[in-house]
Amino acid sequence: MPESVPTVKGYLPLHFTFRLIFAYAVPMFQGPANRKNFVVTCKTCRRDIPTGLDEFPFQSVTVVCPLCGEARRYRPSETFLGRVDHLVVHQNRRPR
Ligand SMILES: [Zn+2]
Repeated sequence: MPESVPTVKGYLPLHFTFRLIFAYAVPMFQGPANRKNFVVTCKTCRRDIPTGLDEFPFQSVTVVCPLCGEARRYRPSETFLGRVDHLVVHQNRRPR
């Protein structure tokens, strides 16, 4: 270990501790639940629901709301890149 790194006897250097924390924390942020998706705001329950599309739609898309079951058409202007409502993410994890 280089002489220039200040250490307190019995403690790890601070930068080394941070590196350990990030080594464990980073994989948790790479899950598909946190990936940004093209979402629309449900016209019935007003929650952000996933369109299931990987690319921006240039035509109207029909999206079935996983929360209220409402199937509606959404224009491209109503589609935006964002995160789905936490209720939708929660529901997807629970098998029916
Ligand atoms: Zn809905």
